[in-house]
Amino acid sequence: MKQRTAGDSHHLYELQQLERLIFSAWDFEGFYKNLLDFLDSQFGDEPKTFTVEDLRRIDQFTRKYFEGKLPENELWIVRAFLVGKLISEREISPLPSFQRVKIEELPARVRDAARNFHLSPAETKALEWTVNSGALRLTTATGETISRVQNVIFESVKNRETTRELRRKLEDEFFDTQAEINRNWNRVAITEINSAFNMGYLAQISSGNFVLGFSMADACDHCKALIDGKVYAVINPDEAQSYDSLAKDSEEYKRQVWLHENAVWVGKDNVGRSGSTRKKIDKTGGTSPENLTDRQHHEIFMPAIPMHPHCRCRWIRLHPTEQYVDSKGELQMRVTNEQEWQHWFNKRMIPFLDKLNVYGLSAGRM
Ligand SMILES: [Zn+2]
Ligand SMILES: [Zn+2]
Repeated sequence: MKQRTAGDSHHLYELQQLERLIFSAWDFEGFYKNLLDFLDSQFGDEPKTFTVEDLRRIDQFTRKYFEGKLPENELWIVRAFLVGKLISEREISPLPSFQRVKIEELPARVRDAARNFHLSPAETKALEWTVNSGALRLTTATGETISRVQNVIFESVKNRETTRELRRKLEDEFFDTQAEINRNWNRVAITEINSAFNMGYLAQISSGNFVLGFSMADACDHCKALIDGKVYAVINPDEAQSYDSLAKDSEEYKRQVWLHENAVWVGKDNVGRSGSTRKKIDKTGGTSPENLTDRQHHEIFMPAIPMHPHCRCRWIRLHPTEQYVDSKGELQMRVTNEQEWQHWFNKRMIPFLDKLNVYGLSAGRM
């Protein structure tokens, strides 16, 4: 019974480690064993009918187990954030270090991280936000696991299966990477670690500076279109506001639309947004043209990392006076081709800088 995370494409060794560590923190082997013991002790060898009360007890057992794991999961989110911070700092350090971050030695709690790493109030806030939003998604995943365990048991009883068959089905759920529960927690591990890493990284970059998006070779079309090789301004999270209720012809609406399309900030995500530009009018209806309408701006994907669950893209700091992005979307040094840099700077950066000024966001030290 091997535990592993799906997908092998990583841009950083540390992130791969973190994904593995958070995933093994759920300890499916332990849970599976405990669940079987619990079922044995409560219901004996012969599965029969489960009453509503029985199912409720199984639910409680599952919930208690996964909720008991929450503090451990917080630990890996805090560490992923700190890895992002350390990698970000290293890039601007006059003495680059190529040593790997010793993940196991990083603080486990927000408070210790803030103290030991002298986090600024803004960084501490960013870390708190990251941990809280992660905890929320872990709670959702716990709920999904509870109902999946319940369904597997329910189906098994309905089909009059033997205890052995039920055991095998539960085993599949936890250890087969194609099964729902395993896939679900894989997704959580990848998404939470990458989110925390990128938040820690972004929190080091002050407002008015720039980042370049970097995607793995197997990235999806949304990430290729909105992240890979694209340049965005980093802004203070307070500048971005929800704009769904603003009048579409108001200046603030236009400003928010522009910021959402051209800037990134700590806490920016695509929660509640979609990759498709059309949506159903009647949610229970089909996808016939009459039942489809355009999504509004605040309902569609904007550049953010993670772009969506499973996203392994990352941001990389970009200094537009020393670097540029070539036609392949790759980062290049100005010294290697002054002419190309000049062309890029005039075409891409000058209008960008002008617009930032128009919206009251001056560029930082580039
Ligand atoms: Zn993607
Ligand atoms: Zn992505």
